[in-house]
Amino acid sequence: MNSIVTKKITLQNRILIFVATILIAVAAIVSVTTLQSAYQHSTLQLTERFDTARQVLSYKLSNDHQTLRNSLGTAAKDFNIKELIASGRDDPESLRVAMLNQQRRLGADFTLVLDQQHAVILNTLDHHQSLNLSDHLDERLHLSTIDSRVYLVTAVGFKYLETQPAYDGWILMGIDLERLMDNRVQTLTGFSVDVFHENNHLLSAATKNSTGLMALPLAQAQELIKISVNDQPHIAYRFNITQGDSPIDFVFTIAQESAFLDFFQLAFQLALEVIIALAAALLLSVYLSKNITKPLRTLASVAKRIQQGDYKSPIPDFSTDEVRNLSQAFKGMQESIQLREIEINQLAYYDTLTDLPNRNSFIRQLKNKVDNQTDQRFSVLMLDLDRFKDINDTIGHNFGDLLLKQIACRIESLKLADAFYARVGGDEFALLLNDVDGQEIMPLVQQYTQLFELPFNIEGMHLDVEASFGLATYPDHADSAYGIMQCADIALYKSKGTHHKVIEYDCEFDTLSVQRLNLMSELRKAIEENQLKLFYQPKLCLTTNTITSVESLVRWFHPEHGFISPDDFIPLAEQTGAIRDLTYWAINTALQQHVEWRKAGVELRFAVNISAIDLIDLSLPAYVAEFLDRYKVDSRYLALEVTESALMDDPDAAIKALRMLQRMGVSLSIDDFGTGYSSMAYLKQMPVSELKIDKAFVLELATNEDDEKIVKSTVDLAHNLGLSVVAEGVEDEAALTILRRHNVEYAQGYFIARPMGADDFQPWLEASDYKKIAHA
Ligand code: C2E
Ligand code: CA
Ligand code: CA
Repeated sequence: MNSIVTKKITLQNRILIFVATILIAVAAIVSVTTLQSAYQHSTLQLTERFDTARQVLSYKLSNDHQTLRNSLGTAAKDFNIKELIASGRDDPESLRVAMLNQQRRLGADFTLVLDQQHAVILNTLDHHQSLNLSDHLDERLHLSTIDSRVYLVTAVGFKYLETQPAYDGWILMGIDLERLMDNRVQTLTGFSVDVFHENNHLLSAATKNSTGLMALPLAQAQELIKISVNDQPHIAYRFNITQGDSPIDFVFTIAQESAFLDFFQLAFQLALEVIIALAAALLLSVYLSKNITKPLRTLASVAKRIQQGDYKSPIPDFSTDEVRNLSQAFKGMQESIQLREIEINQLAYYDTLTDLPNRNSFIRQLKNKVDNQTDQRFSVLMLDLDRFKDINDTIGHNFGDLLLKQIACRIESLKLADAFYARVGGDEFALLLNDVDGQEIMPLVQQYTQLFELPFNIEGMHLDVEASFGLATYPDHADSAYGIMQCADIALYKSKGTHHKVIEYDCEFDTLSVQRLNLMSELRKAIEENQLKLFYQPKLCLTTNTITSVESLVRWFHPEHGFISPDDFIPLAEQTGAIRDLTYWAINTALQQHVEWRKAGVELRFAVNISAIDLIDLSLPAYVAEFLDRYKVDSRYLALEVTESALMDDPDAAIKALRMLQRMGVSLSIDDFGTGYSSMAYLKQMPVSELKIDKAFVLELATNEDDEKIVKSTVDLAHNLGLSVVAEGVEDEAALTILRRHNVEYAQGYFIARPMGADDFQPWLEASDYKKIAHA
């Protein structure tokens, strides 16, 4: 598990972030364009409103102008008024009274009466210098400034005689603009109105809202411009009504907040709506993304369980096609992983040949037992076939395999109280025997040893197979799984060496086995330091009842470990190659002993044991020849014993090596005959002169009829091949009698004598019944 807390970017969060980003972007774009078009729209609207207001104002003023002009026209045609004007220079007071009367009636603020030469006849103003009179004498609307006041000025010509083509003079009247631009104007237009002349503020249509502008806004005519009035944002609109003479500028103003829609309000409302929509959309997308990722999370947790070895957890079905496919693929994967694990498990823990559990699973089983039930006793029985290699070599590996299968079947067929068994090596089986107390174990073990009593039938061929057994018990011998296996192994090894069927582990074995390897490195030293001795065991010639020869058997008296049996170190010496030195030493020693005893008048034949390794040692014949020559010993006094299994390892090579030795006159003997599955074809070619029946068939000869049959047939075979027969392992007189009856030539065994040191041999010979020594 990852202990570092990383920022988790789950798929769900990604979807959320993605959706949120898109939503916010869309909302932003919509808001901005909405606000923008709303702004544009309201600007356009405002411009239209200003334009309309401008037209309204123009219309109003030209209407005022026309009304005044019409009234003035009527007055100009009035005969009384014309008379008064005509006499105006003479009677100005009457004209003034009449015209003021007219002026008041028409709502004007001043009146000018001009003659044909534009000279002023009457003027109701105090002064009028600033007014260019001749400019005002047409029909147009004039707005004129007089003494910083703006007037709407209208002129009408009059004729004393209406039939005259030209005017005789003009009547001008002006209305102060301020009176025309009253509150109603604002009501009519909706704006405050300010009037400027050459940038001078002339008048405002005073309302509550309009405090008057200080300066003419710098803007093109009929254009919107933002200005500030009393620190409040306003929109202004400038325009003219008259063209030509002194330009008068009108300015509409309106507070910005009332000009447009309330933008802040609009934006706020929009933002609120957007936020609500966003929140709703986000909630929806949380829900959706959860729903989308839910099956993924479910499958992820299934995958995690598979990782932890749980293949049983159910995978739900999903409704979406893609996810269903994924979940189905997951199911398939789960099943095939499970199958594969079963297969792997089978391979790792089962033997493919016999289908029995293998060494790994045996040890695992042992470990479980040791870990879980420390107080429960159990035993491990190790079983190893004797000479399985020979069986394989003689009858072929396929038969060997069939044999192993049959053995597995026999072991299984026993079905002993929850025993666990495994094939732990080529021809090694291990059995775990539960709940044993010391007394019951042997009968149990016996059932397994009895499995080998009946011959095996392999494709019609009957095969006698023997096995060695090593037994170790937990917790007496070791308190760990490996320990108990090792003890059983050591016991098995011991059982092989001694040809005992079942050997129970003894802690003394351990010291031996630990020392075995060290011993090998010491063997050469042992030869140099005379730790090795040859012992001699006599062979009795049954026809003459005399001792004619001895077999030399090596003994190791180790300064620290004491006596070491050849069964303990010969096999190891064979494995390490040290056997060659030992063989040379034995031949040398035996020949010297022969010479010594010859001097004492006892001329015996000496048999020396050699190993399979020695057979392929090409320098052995030369060495033998050299020593025979050195000690001046006739070659017929030397015999070499080779075990049957050593010969059959590589029969062709063995035949070659033996032929060389035979040509030198050395006699050769097949040792342990009956245990090595000799092939008759080879046996015939072997240049040997003697067969030694293995002691296994001799030890119980007196009581075992089968053994007698084997002895008899071996003797027949040997004699047919022209060989003499030696029976080893003669332990009682009865056996000797039987051997005699079957015409066995020589007997060797404890009944005659145990192997003895050279010093003990002659006294024994003197004292024995077999005094007469036949000269070979
Ligand atoms: P082996 O050649 O079959 O030797 C016969 C073994 O049977 C000897 O055991 C001998 O002590 C034992 N024996 C003799 N008579 C009787 C009897 O009546 N009853 C019983 N139970 N046993 C009897 P040992 O001396 O322990 O030798 C064991 C094996 O060691 C020999 O078997 C032989 O294979 C090997 N060996 C001994 N010395 C040498 C040697 O110098 N060179 C080689 N290469 N192998 C040797
Ligand atoms: Ca021997
Ligand atoms: Ca033997």
